[in-house]
Amino acid sequence: MIKVAKFGGTSMADGVNFRRVADIVNADSSRRFVVVSAPGKRYGGDTKITDLLYSAHTALEATGALGESFKKVRERYVSVVRETGLDFAIEELLDRTEEEIKKIRSADFTVSRGEYLAAKVMAALLGADFIDAKDVIRFTADGKLDEASFALLAEAFKGKKRTVIPGFYGALKDGTVKTFTRGGSDITGAITARAAGADLYENWTDVSGFMACDPRIVENPERIPSLSYQELRELSYMGANVLHSESIFPVREADIPIQIKNTFRPEDDGTLILPPSKYRYGGRTVTGIAGKTHFTVIFLEKSLMNAEIGFTYKVLSVLYRHGVSFEHMPTGIDTMSFLIDGALLEGGVLEQICREIKEAVNPDHLRVYDDVSLIAVVGHGMSKNVGTSARLFGAIASAGVNVRMIDQGSSELNIIVGVDTEDYERTVRAVYREFFE
Ligand code: ADP
Ligand code: ASP
Ligand code: MG
Repeated sequence: MIKVAKFGGTSMADGVNFRRVADIVNADSSRRFVVVSAPGKRYGGDTKITDLLYSAHTALEATGALGESFKKVRERYVSVVRETGLDFAIEELLDRTEEEIKKIRSADFTVSRGEYLAAKVMAALLGADFIDAKDVIRFTADGKLDEASFALLAEAFKGKKRTVIPGFYGALKDGTVKTFTRGGSDITGAITARAAGADLYENWTDVSGFMACDPRIVENPERIPSLSYQELRELSYMGANVLHSESIFPVREADIPIQIKNTFRPEDDGTLILPPSKYRYGGRTVTGIAGKTHFTVIFLEKSLMNAEIGFTYKVLSVLYRHGVSFEHMPTGIDTMSFLIDGALLEGGVLEQICREIKEAVNPDHLRVYDDVSLIAVVGHGMSKNVGTSARLFGAIASAGVNVRMIDQGSSELNIIVGVDTEDYERTVRAVYREFFE
């Protein structure tokens, strides 16, 4: 049995937790590959190391000095080492790191040091080998994962009993450090699992599994005992950020299950995320609910638009020219809307796009709805149970919420509903009550 154990920032917040993580790893000799994130928040209102490092980079660019944020980073690691009781020359490592950050001056390099330093300390604590992700996780020139990474990792693992690998970053072929998107240590864990030929990818965090709904919105939601890769992809893409939505791609071909585990309650079962070969439908209509806030909807109406060859192409060309991607494109007869992450449309981009769409296709109406939120209701059981949509929309109507948009995925695995952001949490609670209480 071979396991990869990835520990998130919430599991690594201070020295006491570093010890807790080491105890979990040491409790099972099959946990041979350990991936760590940078220390996260120790308490509400605290700042994650990664965020401190982003601020330090901004300060460096603006003033030429790393400033207060980097001082805080230093203090955090010094106290982590002190609390573990480890004999480790952290000050020297921090001095060297500071010099490199100043020399290299890239945001990706600077923030990657959070994971780098955490992995160095964890390797010392476990008496394990440290492998630098920059030597084994490779990106292609266009920023995608290079398949060569799997062989590079496998080579680096040879002859080693236990290894610690920093999450979140890798490098281009020329050695330039590059990070994944936020929360990307989950992807490093998945890549490691595939390269190691693991039987299980354990993802240790601060909750006892994947919940049927965001625990910050519904108190004590039901735990999902198991879900399929596809359900995970839909739920995490749509905002259930307990696991990065790209985590399944590296493990998919190797059929490796992912288990969500709680560092603070290691005895809890957690959640198993299973490949198609191992997944069995458990009988539930809805597996889980997730959501994302702050979308903008551009709504177009034009009589006979379907008969106008190239209509969609012309609209999409405008978005393409502005480098703006859209999340959903519900269409009707003579109508079409685009849901776009509001952050991509700031600074006059929205106005410019609307102008260009009007010029390109001359719609009868073009309307913009601000601040729409999306709620995804996900589950293999939805297509098996007649009346699911009626229950869903009945629950939303009873909560007095106006539905702005509906998109039933062609996979029949999800229904996505758009509501005003001010109705978002109320809607999630109403849908949860309908299917889980
Ligand atoms: P880590 O630091 O371990 O990577 P994250 O903060 O990335 O942890 O993910 C865990 C958090 O995800 C939980 O603390 C919880 O607040 C949040 N979360 C959102 N949706 C869900 C869900 N459906 N189930 C469990 N946790 C969820
Ligand atoms: N430390 C990184 C972040 O905060 C990566 C991770 O935690 O997975 O996004
Ligand atoms: Mg995470």
